[in-house]
Amino acid sequence: MKVIILGAGVVGVTSAWYLRRAGHEVTVVDRQPGPGLETSFANGGQISVSHAEPWANPAAPLQTLKWLGRQDAPLLYRPRADFNQWLWGARFLFECLPHRARDNARQILSLALYSVAELKALRRETGIAYDELARGILSFYTDQREFERAITLADSMRAWGCVREVRTAQECAVIEPALRHAQSRLAGGVFAPDDESGDAHVFTQQLAALCEKRGVIFRFSHTVRRLHEAGGSIAGVEIAGPQTGAETLHADRYIVALGSYSAPLLRGIGIPIPVYPVKGYSVTLPVGPQHDAPSVSLTDEARKLVFSRLGSRLRIAGTAELAGYDVEINRIRCEALLRRVFELFPDAGDRGRAELWAGLRPATPGNVPLIGGTRYPNLFLNTGHGTLGWTLACGSGRAISDIMNGIRPEVDFRFL
Ligand SMILES: Cc1cc2nc3c(=O)[nH]c(=O)nc-3n(C[C@H](O)[C@H](O)[C@H](O)COP(=O)(O)OP(=O)(O)OC[C@H]3O[C@@H](n4cnc5c(N)ncnc54)[C@H](O)[C@@H]3O)c2cc1C
Repeated sequence: MKVIILGAGVVGVTSAWYLRRAGHEVTVVDRQPGPGLETSFANGGQISVSHAEPWANPAAPLQTLKWLGRQDAPLLYRPRADFNQWLWGARFLFECLPHRARDNARQILSLALYSVAELKALRRETGIAYDELARGILSFYTDQREFERAITLADSMRAWGCVREVRTAQECAVIEPALRHAQSRLAGGVFAPDDESGDAHVFTQQLAALCEKRGVIFRFSHTVRRLHEAGGSIAGVEIAGPQTGAETLHADRYIVALGSYSAPLLRGIGIPIPVYPVKGYSVTLPVGPQHDAPSVSLTDEARKLVFSRLGSRLRIAGTAELAGYDVEINRIRCEALLRRVFELFPDAGDRGRAELWAGLRPATPGNVPLIGGTRYPNLFLNTGHGTLGWTLACGSGRAISDIMNGIRPEVDFRFL
């Protein structure tokens, strides 16, 4: 079977890997000159089953109201004259209802556990290296009430199969000694020893190279313009490149994995999907032997920031902004992020050489990705991975390949 995958982010490339391994003829199209250069480029690096609880939860509406109008708020809503933004916001509120939030968390957790197992199997099979560290993720709390809520949540997550250990402030500083400077401010932490971290961009690049070796064709620097429909199925995809101009590619099956840009493409053939870009920032600091940077991956729950050590770099990522497709870097937000980093870790890394980045999380209101078929029998989706696309990529790639091969994926998840 001939398959065209639209998008060479971490989700498109993992889909390509599993489909090629199943024996299909695979072509991947991306507008960038290489793989993983948009949202998969400089994310937080966490493989975090422990973060299965979506942003849309019963505590979110009040929290968001408190942050309203603050330029340095972890979650910032910038209202626009955009119907899709308002519709997404209304659906987000619906997903905050307790029963919806519980069901979404269970869906995400189940896919995340499956995904980590697939990532480990892929590592064993290929020896792929991407500055990975399997030292767990420690979420720490500076607010006592939030910590107490986290203890209750940890109980329910444990019941669903996610290992989460409640730790005192002192124990947190033993797990990650760089936290000792902040120990007196900590209420406590929750440790997920099975979680991991690693560079999503390096992984995507390495896996794309392995795909290429096995015969996958990449059409980089080609923009996907539109899908052509005929007789109730997809007849081709129009792409355009700098040298070739416009051309139409044909295949037996098509997968849309364009991250946040999946929604506008699909609207063109009458498939509305609730995926909206949620902008986030990251800062990458060079770390030398003179620095005292954390190496266990961390989450600062008060500021919604994640820390991952990627070889000789420290990546800090977070914040969320609903502001359309703009990826401009807002200095105020980056400064707030850096201030917090150096408050907690005074010798974290080389501040003067910090690299700033912004990317768009392809978010559904409940953070549950859209994986599976559509009303067009030869069109499939693998998109909407929001805050957890790196964590969920291998499982999503494996699952879409199984679905297209007529096999039921071995995971309890609400596929389309
Ligand atoms: C600040 C931040 C921190 C994050 N931290 C984490 C984390 O710690 N752990 C985690 O699991 N997840 C994290 N995420 C989420 C994760 O990065 C994303 O969910 C994931 O990268 C999405 O992958 P994707 O392949 O769906 O999208 P993308 O990586 O954006 O890939 C889509 C591809 O489609 C291409 N494309 C788009 N439109 C077109 C077009 N018209 N024609 C051709 N090509 C096109 C793009 O070039 C791109 O390569 C974070 C995200 C952000 C922003």
